[in-house]
Amino acid sequence: MPGPCNPKKRKIKRTKAQKPKAQQIPEVISTTSEPTPIPIEHVEPFEPFEFDILPREPPIYDPGNGPRVKDLHAFLASSFCSPPSLDDELCAEFAQEELLDMLYTVLPHELALVLWHNKSRKFSRICPACRRLYRLGEVLSNPLEGIEQIQEHPLLLVEQDISGLCSPVCFILASINYPEAIRLIYGRMADEMEDVTWEYLNSKGYGRDDAGLSMVLRMTRLHDLGLAQLCLPDVEFDDSD
Ligand SMILES: [Zn+2]
Repeated sequence: MPGPCNPKKRKIKRTKAQKPKAQQIPEVISTTSEPTPIPIEHVEPFEPFEFDILPREPPIYDPGNGPRVKDLHAFLASSFCSPPSLDDELCAEFAQEELLDMLYTVLPHELALVLWHNKSRKFSRICPACRRLYRLGEVLSNPLEGIEQIQEHPLLLVEQDISGLCSPVCFILASINYPEAIRLIYGRMADEMEDVTWEYLNSKGYGRDDAGLSMVLRMTRLHDLGLAQLCLPDVEFDDSD
């Protein structure tokens, strides 16, 4: 790892290099002065210093059914990550750093990064639930065996575009607090829902800990993610805002 640990690790490598010389002293007649062996009690415990030598691990991995993002920060800084779609007006708006700062105030850190990535890219998506990396329209393998093929659902592409949730399985996971309304929410924005459905989605539902996924579910039903109302609650907005 970079940072303050590196000098310590370099010290360990020097220690290891000195030990063989110290052990050879009784076997070689020499009048030259050898370095004083370091007492064994002063040798630091072994730490894998290969991280100083080998390149960092890739920020994505494939468990067998498609790539997943393992390290979000490293991924966003890597060549694996598509650049923001600045030719799209809405994506360009969301690509601003200030928008990410606003998302940090209402979502757990990694979910904020995922949502910021998805809203600032026209086609690239990271699933907020399973971290699958994919592009809209791409044929995805099934996340669970025995479940119907996810590409068969007619609203799959719409929901992937809205929330980034890659499959009905991941959507159900994100809807764990609103099971009765799953069919009424899937593939729909807020203005396409019945008022009672939207009110239900804005309630606490079952109140289970879902690591912020239900907040993503609600926010993504609004074109501006509801950030105006969330971050400026004292200001009244109408549709034109
Ligand atoms: Zn997923």
